[in-house]
Amino acid sequence: MASVLKTSPALTIRHLLSSAEVARALRFFENNAEAITDEQIRICSVPASPFNEQERAEYLAKKFVSLGLTEVEIDEEGNCLGLLEGASRSPLMVVSAHLDTVFSKETNFAIVRRENRLLAPGIADDGCGLAALIALAQAIQAKRIPLEGSILFVGTVGEEGEGNLRGVRYLFTKGRWATKVDAFLSLDGAGVDRITNRALGSRRYRVELIGPGGHSWGDFGIPNPVHAVGRAISRLSTYPAPKEPRTTFNVGRIEGGTSVNAIPDKATIEVDLRSAAESELRRLDAFFRRVTRDAVDEENAKRRAGDSELKLKLDVIGERPTGETPSDSPLVELAFEATRMLGFEPRLDQSSTDSNLPISLGIPAITLGAGGSSGYSHTLDEWYDPRDRDKGLKRALLVVLGVVGLI
Ligand SMILES: [Zn+2]
Repeated sequence: MASVLKTSPALTIRHLLSSAEVARALRFFENNAEAITDEQIRICSVPASPFNEQERAEYLAKKFVSLGLTEVEIDEEGNCLGLLEGASRSPLMVVSAHLDTVFSKETNFAIVRRENRLLAPGIADDGCGLAALIALAQAIQAKRIPLEGSILFVGTVGEEGEGNLRGVRYLFTKGRWATKVDAFLSLDGAGVDRITNRALGSRRYRVELIGPGGHSWGDFGIPNPVHAVGRAISRLSTYPAPKEPRTTFNVGRIEGGTSVNAIPDKATIEVDLRSAAESELRRLDAFFRRVTRDAVDEENAKRRAGDSELKLKLDVIGERPTGETPSDSPLVELAFEATRMLGFEPRLDQSSTDSNLPISLGIPAITLGAGGSSGYSHTLDEWYDPRDRDKGLKRALLVVLGVVGLI
């Protein structure tokens, strides 16, 4: 962030607050609270499952055009981009939210309103981030804030699960803006005190065991892939995961077999391993691989003479880098100041978000909540309460303006 932040973060915020246009833009969020929520409802009712974000991306692209953003496009990976051009293209800040949800194609994305809450899969994660992108662009345009640098708004694909950060990865490695970004902000989920500056690393596997299969009575003794994965899961669950650095494991999916009286010919599990420290992640990873291999070997060792073996296929389906934007970096300090200015005590946090990717490349990046409150994320009961959303939007606006600067 070479050309960013010419003064201390505190002075930068004070300077921003003395601008009449900025003051008007901050009020915009309160005065348009209902309209922002209506927009969130519209964008979240457009389905977006993993690897099926096109429809939502197209909706966002139309929105970007109507807001006067330029160079609006859906890139080859499926990300939706729009530029809000200031006096210069440097510094260039990416402000992003993710288009995808964790929910399958068959999901009903319709929104239900219950008192103060909106209920729908993905309504907060990342519906409120997408609503924030639109609201920020709207406020800056409507109040004619004179930007020095430029803002690239991006709705990313593939943030969740097996998407494996494919959208943001493309943006920073192959996309045409890849080498031009000075800072990155992801708006993900609700809240106004969290500042995610550390990237939580993870490794994800699909384990597939394939055997001959057969009759439960007549072929008893041939290797059973479900028994083998059961043994592997049982061993993994005994792993002494440290609390500090926080380390976790999860078998999130299990599949296999056709009938109660048939020995399955296949069993599959999907496993998520995470740790705040790379060394612990490697240790857990090695343990998981070993117990899986042992479980298969044991099942094979017991098989009847002449029967074929279980085959193990171990595929890495996700790998997210660890790293951090230092807490004393200008971007994090700016977020601290903006949070305090709004009357909240900032809380540094570690998580797995789109910021993992720019962080791993040494580009200053943070993830912030976009205001309001939420619960039951990644479930069909997910809810979002938009009260106090304006605080999250104000914080985001101050951070963005602090980076790109005013003329
Ligand atoms: Zn999210």
